Amino acid sequence: MTKVEAPSLAWQQYTRRVVGSFVNFFFPPVCANCKKTGTLVCAECAGRVVWLQEPLCPLCGKEMDRSAACCYACMKRPFPMQQIRTAVYFIQPVQTFIHKFKYENIFALAQPLATWMVQAWPSWQNPIDLLIPVPLHQDRQRARGYNQSELLADQLSKHFGIPLATNALHRIRYTQPQVGLSAVDRHVNMAGAFVADADLVNGKHILLIDDVFTTGATLSAATEILLTAGAQSVSGYCLARAKQR
Ligand SMILES: [Zn+2]
Ligand SMILES: [Zn+2]
Repeated sequence: MTKVEAPSLAWQQYTRRVVGSFVNFFFPPVCANCKKTGTLVCAECAGRVVWLQEPLCPLCGKEMDRSAACCYACMKRPFPMQQIRTAVYFIQPVQTFIHKFKYENIFALAQPLATWMVQAWPSWQNPIDLLIPVPLHQDRQRARGYNQSELLADQLSKHFGIPLATNALHRIRYTQPQVGLSAVDRHVNMAGAFVADADLVNGKHILLIDDVFTTGATLSAATEILLTAGAQSVSGYCLARAKQR
């Protein structure tokens, strides 16, 4: 039986660029939020995006009233991630952009959305050796056709010249969607969800990339596995932060 390999990310992107330039010619892009013709993210919608502002908790990256060693939540129960940062708040119009990016196949949004992550790129406690996108379970990735976090991480890798590893972390358990679960249930739901390749992560300072930060359960589960596999440190950078915790 012939083994059919999934096309490489580079090839998929090349194909998308070629197809995309034809599509753009005949169907100019419209803003994924307000439908104005011109770009996928129009200037007006981009202007409504709410960015996280200093002072931030040095650990979890949550906005604080004044500078401190860490926020109350981190004092009580610190995350295994060395640092967590997020570019923008997960409120409108960002929610719509991310929804279209994830569920409505508008993968070209990776470029403008990653630009926000580039603009808000934090100074990391350690130089980052490796970017790892939070993986989807292969069944979910097959159904969706792409991993939105991988598309964001790929843009960041190209911009900053930091290697991207898409094979270092795998999701081995099909977890139920986290929406509607409490923080504790989210941690239980994620337990044992990932496996890491020690050869690729050993001794490395890793930055996990994801689209939305809610309770940190997904990043924490991935981080614990990466640290067990020998990673030197793991931090997390997400495009958008839900207004909680
Ligand atoms: Zn718009
Ligand atoms: Zn904190």
